[in-house]
Amino acid sequence: MSQPFRVLPRLDDSNRHYWTGGEHGELRILRCDACRTWIHPPAPICPSCRGRALTPEPTSGLGELHTFTVNHQPWYPGLEPPYTIGVVALPEQEGLRITAGIIGIEPGDVRIGLAVRVVFEQYDDVWLPFFEPADG
Ligand SMILES: [Zn+2]
Repeated sequence: MSQPFRVLPRLDDSNRHYWTGGEHGELRILRCDACRTWIHPPAPICPSCRGRALTPEPTSGLGELHTFTVNHQPWYPGLEPPYTIGVVALPEQEGLRITAGIIGIEPGDVRIGLAVRVVFEQYDDVWLPFFEPADG
């Protein structure tokens, strides 16, 4: 038997806001001070205006499932296979999407367009975001 392969994100100054916002129950995404564009994954320069003044801000924590895949290998912390990994579209901005585990629903019941909300699980100094059905 091999041990489950599980990797936690490595924190640095560019992504710490994202992986620790869950301590305060917040899904935090980098935002441009100048033009207010949300930026994810984190980048040092705003792709819209080339601004460098970027500040993490909390999102609503709500989203809609854009696409998903059902995984049968134990590669994701906190999830026993089979489990669902989703790409969640955030309402804050067109095209703003994050990838996370989908919980609180059987993989066979997951549908594109599902309304979801963020929840967090803590592993060491990381708060992993997951999404569960918003009406659950
Ligand atoms: Zn900008």
